[in-house]
Amino acid sequence: MTLRIMTIYGTRPEAIKVAPVIKALEAHPDFESVTVVTGQHREMLDQVNEIFGIVPDHDLDVFAHGQTLNGLMAKVFDRLDPVLVDVAPDAVIVQGDTSTVAAASIAAFYRRIPVVHIEAGLRSGDINSPFPEEANRKLTSQTTALHLAPTSTSQANLLREAIDPATVAVTGNTVIDALLHTVKQDLAFTDPRLAEVEASGRPVLLVTTHRRENWGGAMEGVGRALRRLAEAYPDFHVILPVHRNPIVREAVLPQIEGLPNVLVTEPMAYGEFTRLMGLSTIVLTDSGGVQEEAPSLGKPVLVMRDNTERPEAVSAGTVKLIGTDEERIVAEVSRLVDDPAAYEAMSQAVNPYGDGLAADRSVAAIAALFGIGERLPEFTPR
Ligand code: UDP
Repeated sequence: MTLRIMTIYGTRPEAIKVAPVIKALEAHPDFESVTVVTGQHREMLDQVNEIFGIVPDHDLDVFAHGQTLNGLMAKVFDRLDPVLVDVAPDAVIVQGDTSTVAAASIAAFYRRIPVVHIEAGLRSGDINSPFPEEANRKLTSQTTALHLAPTSTSQANLLREAIDPATVAVTGNTVIDALLHTVKQDLAFTDPRLAEVEASGRPVLLVTTHRRENWGGAMEGVGRALRRLAEAYPDFHVILPVHRNPIVREAVLPQIEGLPNVLVTEPMAYGEFTRLMGLSTIVLTDSGGVQEEAPSLGKPVLVMRDNTERPEAVSAGTVKLIGTDEERIVAEVSRLVDDPAAYEAMSQAVNPYGDGLAADRSVAAIAALFGIGERLPEFTPR
């Protein structure tokens, strides 16, 4: 008997994190993999599918400029339901905490299809931050049949919310599978400006920012901090692959115009971005995925948020929460540049999030859900 497993995803980080699982499903004799993209992020999603060689079977094409969260949710429900009926999957996989995930998991539940949630159990403890992701995660946990928790911390969060322990497996985070797979390919930069940065051997401050709760004034402050840092450290390349969202662009870009050592790029293909992370000196970000990846490359990460649902690397000392205050950003980056001991302390390579085997553990746990084989030993950080 072949089991049909439908993976539904919509944004770049979801695509990166489901890709290793889709590849493992494709390789498994008992599974047929069906992929559905919502297209919540259009081009950034296509970039990732391409690098992993995934051709989506269904595209719900929900993206529209400036649409509200409610408009997006309504579209996902409306367009996914007939696909669920048509394909009749034995299980649906969702990943993470976007609005795609919340809508898709409820839609599958209403159709009585078991939901498998990858990266289950992350919690910041503040329903408004990150917004709307913290709520999306909690909603998704309510309709999930199999929770694939990346770490024992996320497992503990689920158990605290009275989730049945038998439905939780600790797998490690599939982002580390994706990262290791991509870094191994050693893809060269296609952007000549990045090839020049690499050849220059000069230090790099890599910056990404997109979080909804930082939109507006906070993000303008980030832009002003970048200007001050670029001027204070002319030897540094400050590199910002800027998110497609025009709200992000309008807040940050005017602050950093005309600086010779600031390089603004379009969102990078995953191969290029991971290469750039690998040669960066310091990473300044509000991204979830980057917080998980950069520590395993031994890069100090300063996180422009007040809380995190990823406390593991903070405890390990390679990630520091610094908020979005302009003065604080300038001070924290300057400290790492000026104080070698502080830099050394934060640049130890640690792998609290995964060991590259998360996809295998996930697929084994999904098989076990249907009585095929057994789960693999759980992930423990080395
Ligand atoms: N990323 C990428 N290209 C870029 C910037 C980021 O491929 O130009 C990758 C990054 O390595 C990570 C993911 O995108 O795996 C993070 O996406 P994002 O910050 O948009 O979302 P979050 O992780 O905060 O949900």
